[in-house]
Parts: sequence; C-alpha cells; structure tokens
Amino acid sequence: MTQEFSKLVDGFQRHINYFRVSVTDRCNLRCLYCMPRKGLPKLSHEEILTYEEILRILRVATTMGITKVRVTGGEPFARKGLLSFLERLTSLPGLQDISLTTNGVLAAQHLQHIWEMGIRRINISLDTLSRERYRQITGIDGFDRVWESIDKAHTIGFDPIRINMVVIAGLNDHEVLDFARLSITSPYQIRFIEYMPIGPAEFNASSRFVPTNVIKEKVEALGPLIPVNNSRFDGPAQRYRLEGARGELGFISPISEHFCGRCNRMRLTADGKLRVCLLSDLSVDLKGPIRAGISDAELANLLVEAAGLKPSGHTALSSSIIAPSGTMSSIGG
Ligand code: SAM
Ligand code: SF4
Repeated sequence: MTQEFSKLVDGFQRHINYFRVSVTDRCNLRCLYCMPRKGLPKLSHEEILTYEEILRILRVATTMGITKVRVTGGEPFARKGLLSFLERLTSLPGLQDISLTTNGVLAAQHLQHIWEMGIRRINISLDTLSRERYRQITGIDGFDRVWESIDKAHTIGFDPIRINMVVIAGLNDHEVLDFARLSITSPYQIRFIEYMPIGPAEFNASSRFVPTNVIKEKVEALGPLIPVNNSRFDGPAQRYRLEGARGELGFISPISEHFCGRCNRMRLTADGKLRVCLLSDLSVDLKGPIRAGISDAELANLLVEAAGLKPSGHTALSSSIIAPSGTMSSIGG
C-alpha cells in the first residue's frame, strides 16, 4: 500500500494521513477482554474533549494531510450528540474517508441517517455467533440488536460491512470456522483480529493470544485462502476469500506480523491526547494547550511534534508482551 503525501511525516519517513478518534471512553458493554465488569473510572464531562474541540483538531489535521478518520471509542453511540457531530465531520473539507467502529447494539436506528450523511463504511464488533456466549463476553443480552444493525447496514447498502472478531484462546477461538463459513453465505468481510495484551489485568494472559498463522490454519480446513487485492482503505488487513464465497476474510496481526513499517495513523483519545502508537504510551496533550488558547498554527505544530515521536515499531512480540497503560476502550481501538 502506498502512503499518501502528508505534512505529518515521522522520523522514519512514514506519512501520517489517518486519525482514529475516540469520542468517548464510556461503553454500554463490558467485553471481558476490554473492560473490567465493574467498569473503569469514568472521565468526567470536563475531562473529555468537546465535539467542538475534536472538530477543530480535525480541521487543522486535514490541512496537514489527514484524509481518513475513523470514529471509535469506547462506544461512539454511547455519547450524546454523536449524529450531529458526524454531520459536521462529514462536511469538513479535505476528508476523503470517514468510517465508524461500533459494537452495533445501539446503532440500528441511526444507520439510515448516517448513510444520508455520506458515510459508507462501518465496522461492527461481534466476537461470537452464540447468543448465550455473547452475553457471557459482553455482560449484556444484545446479540439480536447487533444482528439487527448488521442486517440493516446491509439493506441500506453500507459497503464494506466488516465484522470484527477478536480471536481469544479459551473464549471464542473454537468459533473461527463458523465465522469463516459466514463469509461464504453472506456478503460481509469477517476480520480476525489478534488479541492484544492490553485488556483488564484479571483477564490478561499471554496464553490468550492466538497468532494469525494459527487462525489461518483453522480456516484453511474450509479450502484454500484466495488473496484479494488490498484497496487503499484496507490498512493493515490481509484480505482473502474462500472459493465461491459471497464475503471475504481479513486477518489483522498487530502482534505476530506487526505492520509498523507501514503505520500511517495516530489516535486521538477521548481526553485529548494524541497517542502516537497503539502499543506505546507516547502521546502529546492537545486538550491543555487548546483550552489555554493556542492558535491553529500552534496546534499544527503540536501535530507535527506528535508525528515526530512515533517509534519505528513496537516490541509486543507474542513471547514477551509489554502492555502499555490503558485499555482499548480508553485508547480508542
Ligand atoms: N466499542 C466499539 C466496538 O467494540 O467496536 C469501538 C471501540 S472497541 C475498543 C474497537 C475494537 O477494539 C473492537 O473491535 C474490539 O473488539 C477491539 N479490541 C478491544 N480490546 C482489544 C484487545 N485487547 N485486543 C484486540 N482488539 C481489541
Ligand atoms: Fe465496549 Fe468495544 Fe470495549 Fe466491548 S470492545 S467493552 S464494546 S469498547
């Protein structure tokens, strides 16, 4: 994949054109591998960036070469005012691609509106095809509502619709084949994601990790994986399809085959830090300076500073996992 020209270039000549924006640290679910059941300490209203502040950062970022934004969380639909934020986001000049990652539980009723704004790409997280296991993993009985969102997204015409499954040993790894079969009968892109060692302490264990090569071997019981050419929106996923399948399979391997050399992204956390690498704590605070009254030019300099902090790669190899602080819900997965 080529990296597009950007004024945000790091010390390793990688051009940053992609921001993942966490609009909230809060979530309506408690996925075992992401949040403790009792929840995490919540950021107060004052601690999180206002939508105005996020839009200002993104407006400046688009003048620096950011063309892609993914809205995530926590759960984006758990924050009030998301739809009017998305409307304003879609009218920012310079953004070529806006997408959304959601657990799907609260999404169905809003999808038509989101489509009308021009958003076409949505990722819905679903780690099991069993209603009962869904309840065990997430803590709520939301399986049917997720499927309502997936079906509705399909009927409306979202494309691609990606279903993200984090593969976790002893939790759902025995369902990999069922998810792969789903790609044969349905038009969805099933994405198998390696579990990263940043979950709650009581859940975390390196024995939970299942590398992509093991996931692929399981899938190959259904037939050979036929490579699909990546589009410029694919990011780090390796795409395949099974013979005769309506949908596709994608493998995301942040740990076993990390894609640091092609990394083109930074993450804006809900509390206003620009995190330069998912698996590192390095970040630049934007909220403090913004609230102290910095100009757009000074904000642009902070974005450049953050890009300059990006490490060449991370060290979270499966055998010696080093967990950064924070979970995916707070960092913005
Ligand atoms: N709440 C939304 C959702 O679940 O789609 C958006 C935020 S969630 C943090 C984004 C993605 O990160 C989800 O697909 C989730 O499964 C994934 N995720 C969370 N913790 C993870 C971990 N430790 N390793 C790998 N993926 C993780
Ligand atoms: Fe919430 Fe998404 Fe984390 Fe599950 S993975 S607890 S839905 S933020």
